Amino acid sequence: MTEDRAAATRRAYMAVLEHYRRDFAAPGSAEYWSPSLETASRDEIRAIQNAKLEKLSPFLYENSAFYRRRFDDAGMIPDDIRTVDDLPKWRPVDKKEMVADMAAHPPWGTYTTHDDAIWNSRGWTIFPTSGSTGTPRVFRYSKTDLDYWKWANSRALWSLGARPGEKVFLVVGFGPHVWGWGVLHALAHMGVPCIPGGGLTAELRCNFILRYRPTILATLPSQLLRLGHVMRDLGHDPTQTSVTKLFTGGEPAAGIAATRRRLEEMWGAEVVEFYGCTEASPHSGGFSCSHPVRDDGTVQTHLMEDIQVWELCDPDNDMAVVPEGGRGITVCTNMNSESSSHLRFVVGDYTSFDTAPCACGRTHVRALGGFQGRADDLINLRGVKFYPSVVEEGVRAVSGVGDEYMVRLDTTAEGIDFMRIEVEHADHAGPDGVIAAVRNAVTSRIEVRVEVDVVPPDTFPKTEMKAKRVEDRRGK
Ligand SMILES: [Zn+2]
Repeated sequence: MTEDRAAATRRAYMAVLEHYRRDFAAPGSAEYWSPSLETASRDEIRAIQNAKLEKLSPFLYENSAFYRRRFDDAGMIPDDIRTVDDLPKWRPVDKKEMVADMAAHPPWGTYTTHDDAIWNSRGWTIFPTSGSTGTPRVFRYSKTDLDYWKWANSRALWSLGARPGEKVFLVVGFGPHVWGWGVLHALAHMGVPCIPGGGLTAELRCNFILRYRPTILATLPSQLLRLGHVMRDLGHDPTQTSVTKLFTGGEPAAGIAATRRRLEEMWGAEVVEFYGCTEASPHSGGFSCSHPVRDDGTVQTHLMEDIQVWELCDPDNDMAVVPEGGRGITVCTNMNSESSSHLRFVVGDYTSFDTAPCACGRTHVRALGGFQGRADDLINLRGVKFYPSVVEEGVRAVSGVGDEYMVRLDTTAEGIDFMRIEVEHADHAGPDGVIAAVRNAVTSRIEVRVEVDVVPPDTFPKTEMKAKRVEDRRGK
């Protein structure tokens, strides 16, 4: 690729991003960080998306060998993808393709538009995926990306109620954790104090809450449950602390009704969330507003359409676009990054979309029912497909059952696959009532045969990070 075209298309793309980056330094109103964008008409949102897409395609073609190969292999040129209406022509990009690219082009792959020249002159950081299912994919970012990230996350944090005057206790280890870093930088940009809580014991974290009186407790849902129990063990009632909002990320919480209810009752506080993925960063992805739950009880999560085009596609129908109201998996075209913009990346969460205006006044699309898990995590048990979050919903709906549990998938000697759920309960010596309750709660949600074992409280380790609660030992 020629140096000049690469530089020229990069300049043009970054110029259009900057042109529409309104209210960068400070909020434009008390209600919305960027009011003209967040309440823009649907036509205006579409016009902004098209203006960015027109520059994105040539930018990717000239600056990413991965995208250039894809255009060439499809017999397409960048001019073929100029508007949102053109997007269905572009076969969605999935993680496996990125893994293959990474394996062929270590150590950075060619799927980003970051190169050694940027890394050496204005590089910022990297975020690798966990690699738990194969080769980790790594994403390099520049300090320009950091600005776009701060801005987008400030808009999202403002929406869920973070304001000067609030104090955030951010309980996260600062490993390559996209959510934690994004929240930290945005809070500093907003002038909202953030108390770091990584690397402390649960007892010390509780002491921090009692002493420094944060109003927003930001951490993974499993950590929120843990801290609530420790707070009680220390003789304090979590509902009587300074905490008024529970801000979750990293794994689903708000969309799992039984988990949300447990958290809200434990802390006497409202659950709000960010939900996203490493690949479509730098950005929060989904975020809550002042109306996180609709009157009918449905959780709703906002997306920011002026910086990302969100589509739902049907994985069982050649990734055809699903019309509004239908269920499909999320596909994101990211247009808020110098290093990691993408055309139709498969994020892969099942949800449905609603583009009607929200009660908060925002006009951008909302995911209904939140996000309950990635398509990769879907369990297929004898033809019945379900998310681990559905099991969680059932287990945590039963009163007295501990927050930690284990799901074991196994095969009998006769070759029949089954699921056993192990739960903690004080009645473990006479468990019949608990077994029946858990079995009913789970089988009313998914039609599979379930065995339940009841073990004493505190049998399972308390999880600090993303919990691994499913063990699959089925004969393969
Ligand atoms: Zn809203």
